[in-house]
Amino acid sequence: MTDIHEASHDGARELQAMIAQAGVVVAFTGAGISTESGVPDFRTPGSPWLKNKPIDYEDFIRSDEARREAWRRKFTMDDLYRGAQPSVGHRALATLVARGTSPGIITQNIDGLHQAAGIPDEAVVELHGNGTYATCLACGLRHELVDIRRGFEATERAPECVACGGMVKSATISFGQAMPAEAMRRARDLTLACDLFVAIGSSLVVYPAAGFPLLAKQRGARLAIVNREPTELDEIADLVVRGEIGDVLGPLAATH
Ligand code: NAD
Repeated sequence: MTDIHEASHDGARELQAMIAQAGVVVAFTGAGISTESGVPDFRTPGSPWLKNKPIDYEDFIRSDEARREAWRRKFTMDDLYRGAQPSVGHRALATLVARGTSPGIITQNIDGLHQAAGIPDEAVVELHGNGTYATCLACGLRHELVDIRRGFEATERAPECVACGGMVKSATISFGQAMPAEAMRRARDLTLACDLFVAIGSSLVVYPAAGFPLLAKQRGARLAIVNREPTELDEIADLVVRGEIGDVLGPLAATH
């Protein structure tokens, strides 16, 4: 039966106890862990992400105007949360990784804040890519946003790869774009390796990402969910903590 805690401090204690009992802990994070860093989430009413209909992958490939619009929006969003720093939640998870309690984090986020909190790149699985740089869709070469922005602002032309002339896109996964196979494989390995899976700050409605908490539970791990509002998977969780992520995860940094 699901143990639901509305009071963050009771829930935080329960979560600490579960982590202390567990051998291997894997956290799965959504946009909610970054709101305390000043990065808005996706579904909370008023979200700037919902202001425009997303440009899907097909449109990006097909239309030069769609590419230019995607880059305009990208720079506008970047300006909204420039200088965002890791939250208490990011730092608590970095502590779990540093102490060997957790082999890695699976994230839906694209903001790079787990790495900024000190988790090595190889211990962060980014299911939806990374918005802090861009890649060429043809040859995969990495491009830095600062260079792309300078060129775009000077010419209003969508960037092309300096090496092969291919289309350059933010290194995130758009609607309609294939999930990154390597990240999906690593996420599955982490999920199957853990005996406690903790989903944090996600509405758990975006698939296939939300399939990982489900898989963990089906394979016998315990499932804890930390979110300020109900999620799609609360019913199957062993523990649900409804509260602010910083309040719930903050004590972990001190005790584990
Ligand atoms: P979501 O917006 O669907 O859900 C976020 C959940 O976190 C909500 O249920 C919200 O109530 C909760 N929440 C927000 N702040 C919280 C806090 N401080 N404490 C407790 N709960 C809090 O996000 P999602 O499930 O990650 O899906 C959105 C998709 O959009 C992701 O796949 C991601 O790729 C993308 N996205 C990423 C970012 C980012 O990188 N920071 C930001 C917005 C959207």
